[in-house]
Amino acid sequence: MNILVSACLLGISCRYDGRGGTCEELQRLAERHHLIPVCPECYGGLPTPRPPAEILPEDGESGIRVVTRDGADVTAQYIKGGQAAVELAAFFHCTVAILKSRSPACGHGRIHDGGFAGGMRDGDGVAARMLIERGLRILNETQTEEIRRL
Ligand code: SF4
Repeated sequence: MNILVSACLLGISCRYDGRGGTCEELQRLAERHHLIPVCPECYGGLPTPRPPAEILPEDGESGIRVVTRDGADVTAQYIKGGQAAVELAAFFHCTVAILKSRSPACGHGRIHDGGFAGGMRDGDGVAARMLIERGLRILNETQTEEIRRL
């Protein structure tokens, strides 16, 4: 099957700090499934490298507000990137996505708390939330047992 995957887990250097990584479990998964890379932050039009961003705990007009450490509001870019991820998932008929943990775009279950001090809270990144709303099952790269069972 086609599985949507955060591009920075597939060796693409698209993280905010200009880095990326590889994940052994995903390399094995690529032998059995087609992995479709997506970087919602890049698809939203943000440059690489870029200032780190976090989702503020209070809701904005659209139900979410994302700001950089410098205070710039990048909510629109995160929503645009999330929409691109949803479109890609629909185009490739993906029912599962494996997304980078803790990211304000890709994180699922636990994300940074908006204080830019390393704190965490329950919640989903913008793209992860939009994909969940479309019915996708979301895993992150630390869920190796679940990935092995795909
Ligand atoms: Fe990785 Fe997702 Fe951040 Fe892009 S938006 S760098 S894919 S965690």
